Amino acid sequence: MSIEAIELTTLDGKVKELAAEELRAFQSAFRGPILKRGDPGYDDARQIWNAMIDRRPSLVARCTGTADVVTAVRFARDHGLLSSVKGGGHNIAGLAVCERGLMIDLSLMKGVWVDAAARTARAQAGCTLGDVDRETQLHGLAGVFGFVSATGIAGLTTGGGFGYLTRRYGWTCDNLVSMEVVTADGKLLRASDSENQELFWCLRGGSGNFGIVTSFEYRLHPVGPEVMAGMVAWHGEDAPKVLRFFRELTAAAPRELTCVAQLRNAPPAPWLPKEIHGKPIVAILACHSGRPEDAEKLVAPIKAFGKPVADILVRRPYTQMQSLLDGAQPKGRRYYWKSEYLPGLQPAALDAVATAATHIPSPHSAILLFHIGGALNELPADHSPAGNRDAAFVCNLAASWESSSDDAANIAWARQSWEWIRPFSTGGAYLNFMTEEEGAERIEAAYGKTIVKRLGSLKRKYDPQNLFQHTKNVLGIDAG
Ligand SMILES: Cc1cc2nc3c(=O)[nH]c(=O)nc-3n(C[C@H](O)[C@H](O)[C@H](O)COP(=O)(O)OP(=O)(O)OC[C@H]3O[C@@H](n4cnc5c(N)ncnc54)[C@H](O)[C@@H]3O)c2cc1C
Repeated sequence: MSIEAIELTTLDGKVKELAAEELRAFQSAFRGPILKRGDPGYDDARQIWNAMIDRRPSLVARCTGTADVVTAVRFARDHGLLSSVKGGGHNIAGLAVCERGLMIDLSLMKGVWVDAAARTARAQAGCTLGDVDRETQLHGLAGVFGFVSATGIAGLTTGGGFGYLTRRYGWTCDNLVSMEVVTADGKLLRASDSENQELFWCLRGGSGNFGIVTSFEYRLHPVGPEVMAGMVAWHGEDAPKVLRFFRELTAAAPRELTCVAQLRNAPPAPWLPKEIHGKPIVAILACHSGRPEDAEKLVAPIKAFGKPVADILVRRPYTQMQSLLDGAQPKGRRYYWKSEYLPGLQPAALDAVATAATHIPSPHSAILLFHIGGALNELPADHSPAGNRDAAFVCNLAASWESSSDDAANIAWARQSWEWIRPFSTGGAYLNFMTEEEGAERIEAAYGKTIVKRLGSLKRKYDPQNLFQHTKNVLGIDAG
């Protein structure tokens, strides 16, 4: 970067000018590029998945390794600067990017090391889910990751994480062996069951509040390289029947079979007949990750149900299934979500879902019902802040559209639909699905009173200055 004085937001919301010498000292201690407005690559680095978020940090520090993260944290701490942390940049609330502050961008840190014999992988915090799946699948192994391969591992893991393997192995963060972390005082620590146990507990659901994780060590499981997986779709008018079937299917399914119901208007995808494009459909995504000899029998009832308009539920590479939904949620569209955990699928909840689907105003929006019940329910409530051990389904009302002139209609749809679904909630909430305006009340719902108190007191211990405040911040919530 060309070096001249620059204004940055401070931790108390004021603005301060940093002199050219201070910036020069930062750049000379930092190996990666430090970008400011107008520099080539600045816009690419600051623009995140959700185009509703359009903030401009004064500096983007693109870290090339752990030493850069330490340098950036110390710089932010010494100058009392507002900072944000970008892993994969997929957070719907846009937590990765702060206005006029310092963005600590980890997305160049993409190393993955697999220990096939120990069934573990260490991955740097800039990896996407696809980066890690690609390496682990070479060995027929997989970590527990989410449904869209471009999502960052860092935000997903520190906030909980669920995907096709959750029913078998729990939250993503239940599958952590250790983490390397830079804390607010600029120290580099290892957190695991045997080292810095309190910090290890906090980071498994406490999100970005407690430090910057530079690498994650995951427990892996034998999966693939091929699985029986894909999707079957029906006409939207069949939604009430298909949702009842989904209820029976998920109640009987072994943990090796994970299903997701999806309601939306059909995209112009080649696997869907042309005459249905733009019309409502209901689909069941299914992924059987167990023994191949069991798979066909288990998915046969899905394929045989009613009169499908399309069926792409076949044996396919696991990595292909992990990216099947990628095209539906590209970077750069406008997004707004509402979500709830459900303890089960009451008929009235399914009616609410079917009704909400008939009001969808955009060709890109969807309602998703993810089945997650299984292993995660077996751990104690305080095992980690990710908690929500009573959840069996996640319902996500995912509004997605292109033009700012459609903001009001799409946000209103998500909010109205949420009002219809809320009565069936566990009362919990998923931190990683929260939009910008979801604050203290929802954060407390995500953790529950006991865990939020413990997180608050540990936040005061690990980050008394509230350096990591551009997060779903737990400080102060425990006092209420
Ligand atoms: C298209 C899409 C699909 C999704 N699918 C799933 C899914 O299947 N399952 C699921 O569980 N979630 C899913 N999510 C939600 C996802 O878990 C969150 O959006 C998560 O925040 C994304 O992580 P990220 O690294 O990309 O986010 P970023 O926007 O880069 O970071 C979000 C926040 O996470 C924290 N953070 C990031 N990096 C670090 C770090 N190194 N150390 C400490 N804190 C850090 C910080 O608070 C940061 O501001 C999905 C999101 C999208 C947009």
